[in-house]
Amino acid sequence: MGIEERYANVAAEVAAVCREAGRDPREVTVVAVSKTVGPAQVGSAVAAGARDFGENRPDGLVEKAAAYPQANWHFIGNIQSRRIPDIVGSAALVHSLVEERHARKIDEAAAAAGKVQDVLLEVNVSGEQSKGGLAPGDVAALLDACGGLAHVRVRGLMTMAPQGDLDAARATFEGLARLHAELRADLDPSRAALFDGLSMGMSEDWREAVHAGATIVRIGRAVFDDAFEASGPGAGNLA
Ligand SMILES: *Cc1c(COP(=O)(O)O)cnc(C)c1O
Repeated sequence: MGIEERYANVAAEVAAVCREAGRDPREVTVVAVSKTVGPAQVGSAVAAGARDFGENRPDGLVEKAAAYPQANWHFIGNIQSRRIPDIVGSAALVHSLVEERHARKIDEAAAAAGKVQDVLLEVNVSGEQSKGGLAPGDVAALLDACGGLAHVRVRGLMTMAPQGDLDAARATFEGLARLHAELRADLDPSRAALFDGLSMGMSEDWREAVHAGATIVRIGRAVFDDAFEASGPGAGNLA
């Protein structure tokens, strides 16, 4: 199976799981995470209908967004201050904001570029030491600080689940959805309406994320890696 067929299968399966969960498939955006491949492979996914792509490094983001400017580009990696102008120049949505000083730099860069930058706040729901992201109790303060920045618009929350344990992943996603609902209830109606995004779920655990309310799933290997079908936990489902 090639990239085109794998992307088409993933998109169809995401729609099927939405229906199974009682959700409208149009509520869930599939971001094809292209960080391990080059522009040619992105082209294959575009040909199969992919419209959203994710990159975790600024160089990959800038290069591939320039090659496929018609797609929506998502920045999903660690933010470094000095790369913020590049990220803002190419990304429709930044998933990984965790620091107020970066929010201020994004605000400046977006003002200079004449745009308002959509961002998500990354949360470390599971508390794993190895994971980036804000502690759940620190999210409200950053959300509040961003409310004062005219060129930064917080569109929701993002998380990464512990790998290899679907029960732990489910608990993580449900925890993020609960936190999102609590924070949203405290926002002004105009901000609450735009605070509608939950970016959660990757190749191995996106089904759990869709059931928990994900509006964006970030899928890399299941689209771009031919070894994934053979080894991934989804192998049984696809057989
Ligand atoms: C690489 C990456 C993904 C995609 O992971 P897969 O397991 O390949 O689907 C999703 N989100 C982030 C933040 C990543 O770095």
